[in-house]
Amino acid sequence: MAENIIEDIVVPRCSGKTMKVNKGQVFRVIAHEGKQVVDLTFLNASNYKEHFAAEHSAVLNSMQGIGGYYRLNKLYSKPPYENVMAKVISDSVGDGDRGGERGGHFMMCHCSKRLLDHLGMPGTRTCSDNFADAFKEIGLNQEDTYDETIFNVWMQSWIGEDGGMCSAPPLVEEGDSIDFLAEMDLIAVISVCPDETSPCNDFKAKALRFQVLEEG
Ligand SMILES: [Zn+2]
Repeated sequence: MAENIIEDIVVPRCSGKTMKVNKGQVFRVIAHEGKQVVDLTFLNASNYKEHFAAEHSAVLNSMQGIGGYYRLNKLYSKPPYENVMAKVISDSVGDGDRGGERGGHFMMCHCSKRLLDHLGMPGTRTCSDNFADAFKEIGLNQEDTYDETIFNVWMQSWIGEDGGMCSAPPLVEEGDSIDFLAEMDLIAVISVCPDETSPCNDFKAKALRFQVLEEG
């Protein structure tokens, strides 16, 4: 199927951005420099109070046998809405065996000032800073709306047997991508994670490429 590229941008390392994705369009994330995580959330473009809920989506996908905390098929909005906002229609890491037994992603929080304090790197830029910048593009402050639970695309983290969080370098390689089909008009809110203190970005922050596509 032919694809028309509506928008094609590179978001620099350590920065945030919003992109409009209309219903029926595909939002593609491309790891064009290799092992890099993107922290993603989505807002209903007509109602910013309706936003993606990662952990709620993990449970709903788990109950349907189509995903869980490490891979999603359907992205739901928070209660009381609970609508399918988008569907993952292609996932070169999460599909098949590439994502290992977990799936190659992580539905969890993003890095923040307090988190970096505990990593011994106070004052370091975080996904919170990226999201604050991104939300300004649509006239919001970070505290106005959104759930801090995020689709951590390509973040290879998991809950260990002691209940603590474990992380390893992402399984994604240069050129890998993941496609989200918008089920409503959306604002994609992007944080290209700046963390260089943990394996999450393989200890080096990189840029990422994003496209909005339509079937031709
Ligand atoms: Zn981060």
